[in-house]
Amino acid sequence: MVTSVIGLEGVLGLMRKILILTAGFGNGHNAAAFSLRDAFLDSVQDTQVEVLDLIKLCYGARCELVKRIFLAIVNHTPRLWGCAYRAMDQTSIMARLLRRLHKLRQELFRILVTTEPDAVISTYPAYNYIIDQIYESYRERRFHKITVVTDSISVNSIWHASPSDYYFVPNDLSAKVLHDAGVPPAKVFACGFPVSPWFYELAQTQATPVITHGEPKRILYVVQHGNGASSQVIEKLLAMPEIELTIVCGPHPKLERNLARRSAHAGKRARVFGWTDRMPELLATSHLVITKAGGAMVQEALAARCPLIINRIIPGQEAGNAALIAALGVGAIATSDDDVIALVRNAFDDDAKLWHFWKSAVTRHSQPDAALRIARVILEKMGGAGPNPQPGSASRETSTRPSAAVSFPAILEPRKPLLCDFHTHTTFSDGKLTVRELVDFYGQRRFDCLCITDHVAEQSSLIGRVANLSGLTMHWNRIEEYFDTIAREKQRAWAKYGMVLMAGLEFNKDGISKHSSAHLLAVDLHTPIRPEAHLKLLVRTIQQQHGLAVAAHPHVMKGRWDRDTLYLWEHQDEFAGLLDAWEIANRDDIFNPVGLQRLPYIANSDFHKPKHIYSWKTLLNCEKHPDAIKQCIRDNRDIAITLFRDGDAPAALRAQEPAIFAEPASAFHLDRGQLQLPFAA
Ligand code: ZN
Ligand code: ZN
Repeated sequence: MVTSVIGLEGVLGLMRKILILTAGFGNGHNAAAFSLRDAFLDSVQDTQVEVLDLIKLCYGARCELVKRIFLAIVNHTPRLWGCAYRAMDQTSIMARLLRRLHKLRQELFRILVTTEPDAVISTYPAYNYIIDQIYESYRERRFHKITVVTDSISVNSIWHASPSDYYFVPNDLSAKVLHDAGVPPAKVFACGFPVSPWFYELAQTQATPVITHGEPKRILYVVQHGNGASSQVIEKLLAMPEIELTIVCGPHPKLERNLARRSAHAGKRARVFGWTDRMPELLATSHLVITKAGGAMVQEALAARCPLIINRIIPGQEAGNAALIAALGVGAIATSDDDVIALVRNAFDDDAKLWHFWKSAVTRHSQPDAALRIARVILEKMGGAGPNPQPGSASRETSTRPSAAVSFPAILEPRKPLLCDFHTHTTFSDGKLTVRELVDFYGQRRFDCLCITDHVAEQSSLIGRVANLSGLTMHWNRIEEYFDTIAREKQRAWAKYGMVLMAGLEFNKDGISKHSSAHLLAVDLHTPIRPEAHLKLLVRTIQQQHGLAVAAHPHVMKGRWDRDTLYLWEHQDEFAGLLDAWEIANRDDIFNPVGLQRLPYIANSDFHKPKHIYSWKTLLNCEKHPDAIKQCIRDNRDIAITLFRDGDAPAALRAQEPAIFAEPASAFHLDRGQLQLPFAA
């Protein structure tokens, strides 16, 4: 209905998904979120908009406690941060506090991965930090990160310390705070506070009150529950014969009855509402509103062109709202009940000179279309070339993503353990699939974490040289290419499958006998490690990179022709304290003694070709993040092993797989010895 006036038709042709994150902690976050949603829905078709109070969803009954934590953060951050915003990083106190909210991060992470929104709008600042934590290191963020600031003037630095692509602020004064803090002006839009689009409709259709002789002055008195209504104020207001009083007290029946009783003597000049959905209308038809300095309330009064008298200010964020009223000249701050009455008298005395002053200022500063304007700017930013907010980042593959078919999932679906494989080989050594093919192969099977561990062997030993020449291990001159390839695929694996991809290596330390042979896995390496060092130094070097050092197939293998590698097992006294984990299962083999010795364990397929997928895997009950995954293995808690069967992959996915992955069904049932190559592992 308002669309034609604002002129948003045809801004976009593509289906877009917009996620709005909010929190019910006072201050208008929810009001802003829902107003924006309505504005998007009013503005364009084919746009999916979802408002989520993720804090409430994650913590429910414990929300009160979390709420207190957040308020403490908000109230203490000015001191914590001061003007040192430039120095803020992921190690800062704020980030560390929020990092403890594992459940919130995990849930947001899951939602972002499964819904792939085009824009994430936060009307509550803490979410920005959590998004940063999710997308730190290698992960590529593929949506616009947008902050809608609900504070005025006293804009806390937590709103901008975690950088967003765009900021929307209620007014120029707030914009200046951001500019002064170093936010580039091109990123800041002072579109007004996003009030409900209803205010815009009212502004178009509803005549604003004027002062005419003999006509009553309509005053709206918003009573905060718990704060109590001032009987004195109500009495004195009703004692003024020209005043009509509307009292709104929220959904508190007892208070409502009480107020109705106290104002009954005024007859039709007083009315009391409990909860009402007519606030926009009540504001738009009142001469004055008396209220505390809540963010949403103040902004709605501005949008409705209704001058304000503030009767209470909660220290902190509300101070900014009060300062705004003073700065704009749209009302006044009362310091006591008597002051409220005096201000009302002043406003209407002397031919309502003061009221006219307030009224003309509030009319000048009123932006009832703010939500619609914000929606329009965001839609414009999202439109055209496709939402890739980060210059220089990899090109989007998803601009032609099928529309409408993807919908927001049921948020509260139970969490599944992560399906992981930490021991796989590609064509860089003796595997049959390229890195890219391997990523697709595991991604299509819905793995959560894959580590590629191609073989490297020392060039100096005879066995190592033979292995190198035969192509069974990776030649050292390809090591950079190997790491680069995996680094590129990390982004694709994440974007396409929500799968964490890690670079690793398998150090083949083959001696003359099985007793002197060891295979050491390095999981999640960031730079190459030369294989010549002795085992203990290798372990240390891996761990210096925060990688995991894991003993591969440490015990006697029954299911394979490969030569056993028993050195680490037979030197447990030296290595048990050093290694992060031992393979308790490798492909078809299970090594009971690893469990009996109570060593930390994982299970891997030692994948060389597609049929090896049917093998033992690791399940981890932790957050899908490399650090959390590694820590879960080190702690060896919330860990299990599972024998993978392809029933896990949906039939539709199996049907889509390229021919290369379609192994003849019979192959798996052949004697495995005939299919295995003796050098595998
Ligand atoms: Zn091996
Ligand atoms: Zn291997």
